[in-house]
Amino acid sequence: MNVKGKSVAFRGPFPPVWNPIAYLDYNNLWRTIDNMGKEIPFEAPWQAPHAEEWDKLTMKELIEKICWTKTARSFALLFVNINVTSEAHEVSALWFLWYVKQCGGTTRIFSVSNGGQERKFVGGSGQVSEKIKELLGERVKLDKPVCYIDQSGDSVIVDTISHERYECRYVISAIPPILTCKIHFQPELPSERIQLVQRLPMGAVIKCVMYYKEAFWKKKNYCGCMLIEDDDAPISITLDDGKPDGSVPAIMGFILARKAHQLANISKELRKRKICELYARVLGSQEALQPVHYEEKNWCEDQYSGGCYTAYFPPGTMTQYGRVIRQPFEKIYFAGTETATYWSGYMEGAVEAGERAAREVLNAFGKVPKKDIWAPEPESKDVPAMAITTTFWERNLPSVPGLLMAIGATSSIITLCIMIYKCKRIM
Ligand SMILES: Cc1cc2nc3c(=O)[nH]c(=O)nc-3n(C[C@H](O)[C@H](O)[C@H](O)COP(=O)(O)OP(=O)(O)OC[C@H]3O[C@@H](n4cnc5c(N)ncnc54)[C@H](O)[C@@H]3O)c2cc1C
Repeated sequence: MNVKGKSVAFRGPFPPVWNPIAYLDYNNLWRTIDNMGKEIPFEAPWQAPHAEEWDKLTMKELIEKICWTKTARSFALLFVNINVTSEAHEVSALWFLWYVKQCGGTTRIFSVSNGGQERKFVGGSGQVSEKIKELLGERVKLDKPVCYIDQSGDSVIVDTISHERYECRYVISAIPPILTCKIHFQPELPSERIQLVQRLPMGAVIKCVMYYKEAFWKKKNYCGCMLIEDDDAPISITLDDGKPDGSVPAIMGFILARKAHQLANISKELRKRKICELYARVLGSQEALQPVHYEEKNWCEDQYSGGCYTAYFPPGTMTQYGRVIRQPFEKIYFAGTETATYWSGYMEGAVEAGERAAREVLNAFGKVPKKDIWAPEPESKDVPAMAITTTFWERNLPSVPGLLMAIGATSSIITLCIMIYKCKRIM
């Protein structure tokens, strides 16, 4: 962890906090986010008992309500940046609380071991699409953006911008919601869906991978994961991006949210230099200044993503339009990670959504009963998630206002006792 130029090494999901008041505040922050999440249904966050109230709040406003110390507040803002590539003032509190909940809570979503940031694919995750393409062969059409879907006749007609025309019985749309605006529909989409997709912007991230001759951070017994809380630092989080067998040493870093916009307009060479200098400072190692190669991708300028990792819900959107996110429109069904109920925003969510939409189409064909459309993803047998437990103190320590109230109540009782004692002596 590096806060304003000062580095501290730590193990575990969250950096250590030495100040006891800040510790109470921190502990209460995670506990409150997780407890609020428990109220929110996975598949229908708009039905949470406090949905209306929480959806009117931004995450920044909620953080300001929960946190009493600058330490907890600053880290909470970074936590939002890292998890959803957007600013806390941009996102609905209801949506963010749901997002964390459907990833298993604050510890699971953030952990590098036994959590969301743990696992890598041997050979890279691009293989998921490549292997599917191998199975489907010529039926997979690449570089053919769809621009028109006509379902006014018996079958559905799909046109691409390169003037191919396809005819089918059903369509599954698995594109980021806001990119739906680039497609013309006949008949027009229902007004609620048009309103929804216009309101779901994508997060902002530039992914930067710095390659080195050797994994010099390992010599210092560092894992390569850095959390950097500093307005002037380009990168907010890094992970060791070497191959699972230890070859091709690299550090992957994310330029997130406001910083992705601020740093998009400088040269690649300058971004690279700023990042190396940052790593040298944080890791205390001049070897960081000697990369052998650098790759980066600004996802915000990719016109078929619009940004990454996922779409976010600004305040007011979830309760007003959220319920149409998976609602089919005649013969068009909607998948994409944003429509998932578990690890939405991740590849896992994209798979859940794709399988659910496929079963919806099979149901329309009469091949799958309605009750089987929703089937939970089976737990991994190779690497099952271990339960996340909390300690007695994490569950029961007071919050900062709780502590102040306890101190206030105790001193009032002591003052009262002293007064009674004095009165008795006078009488
Ligand atoms: C930098 C970064 C890091 C990430 N890290 C992780 C991670 O560590 N773990 C994890 O699980 N997830 C991660 N994600 C998120 C993950 O990539 C997404 O959740 C996942 O790719 C979503 O899958 P999807 O199928 O919903 O959408 P996408 O993967 O976005 O696929 C949508 C497809 O639709 C295509 N398309 C768009 N418009 C049209 C059109 N008009 N016609 C035809 N096709 C169109 C696009 O070209 C694209 O191929 C990361 C994302 C980013 C950007």
